[in-house]
Amino acid sequence: MGPFDGGVFDKRLQGGRAGAQLTVDAHGVHASTTAGDTFDVPARDCQLELGGASGRMWFCRTPDRQLTIYSEARGFAEALASLPNLSQPVAELRRHRRAESRRGVLFLLAALGMLIALGIAGYFGLDYAGRAAIEALPREADERIGRLAINSMDLGGPTVHDKTVTDAVNAIVARLAEHAPGDFEYQVRVLDAETVNAFALPGGQIVVYTGLIAKAEALDEVAGVLAHEIAHVTQRHGLQRIAQSLGVAGSLELLLGDLGGLSAIAVELMRAGALTSYGRDQEREADEQGVLTMHASGLDADGIARFFQKLQKEQDEMEIPEIFAWMSSHPDLDERIANVRAQIDSLGPVAEQPLEIDWDAVRRAVGPDAEAAGSAAEADATEKAPEQNADSKAGSKAKRRKR
Ligand SMILES: [Zn+2]
Repeated sequence: MGPFDGGVFDKRLQGGRAGAQLTVDAHGVHASTTAGDTFDVPARDCQLELGGASGRMWFCRTPDRQLTIYSEARGFAEALASLPNLSQPVAELRRHRRAESRRGVLFLLAALGMLIALGIAGYFGLDYAGRAAIEALPREADERIGRLAINSMDLGGPTVHDKTVTDAVNAIVARLAEHAPGDFEYQVRVLDAETVNAFALPGGQIVVYTGLIAKAEALDEVAGVLAHEIAHVTQRHGLQRIAQSLGVAGSLELLLGDLGGLSAIAVELMRAGALTSYGRDQEREADEQGVLTMHASGLDADGIARFFQKLQKEQDEMEIPEIFAWMSSHPDLDERIANVRAQIDSLGPVAEQPLEIDWDAVRRAVGPDAEAAGSAAEADATEKAPEQNADSKAGSKAKRRKR
């Protein structure tokens, strides 16, 4: 049967792959490339997988995975299923995919219903109903929206792989996560850019820029910022924001439109910054929860206030507010510094459990003379974890390009 449009993965090919015309007969799957090379996977050897970017690509692999023939052409799956030993695997993979997509649709419908309820509740000022509805939404809603957001955003800088930096930030987030409410799983990215910024997306995606690390004189200042961002996650401010933005009009549009509309609207909201710029009440709540988390973590909650102060002072002096992105989305600093300090006083003394991190080394690693420190860390990584070598090289290359 065939021919089908498809391709071949094989080490012997230049670049490891080539487009090919495929045929299927009783002996198995055959491919011939435009260059005239032919490849065969005997039917009894063919290990099937269904996937690829579209989710509809069929892969037929040899057991040693040296050779793969693939296609998503119409009729290819039926041709595979016509081979006696492949009809059952084809049917199973199809069943599995159908179940997956049914789960996806059911999930989206449930989330959609909740968001519509929230939009309507918000319109009538039923804040309590809105909160209750968000609490009823599974955590998966936050996670999916966060993933959708991070994949559609231009994050504005290369990822930092220097372990001096990433280990420190991961250790801070791990400590805070242990003492923050909820059981979200946090994924941290450090990006190389001068912007003094950090933000969290629903579900626990956290982004920190080296500009913010360089600006913080003490670990507790960065920890304070992160505790505040983690609070936006645990209090599910992103979903509240979406529900508010949708409102009744948007909810009806969604209700009448197709399911794809939900992701389109979510992506639009993220582009507009709706998920990373919150309302005044949400900021106050994040400050309060941030202080509680810092306190419970044995860290100095005054780091939050000190970082606010630092940004405020520099903004007054330098008049370049755009680089202080974190602050510009966090207004009313005077009042908030006062609130944070009053709350700290009311909590009483903290049993400090400092993290064992050499903060000066972290700052040096992101500072202007980071190059030397970076290559030392790279040499170190080569010895310990050769498989990560390619990654760290890519990281330092990006740095060089920028400077
Ligand atoms: Zn905030």
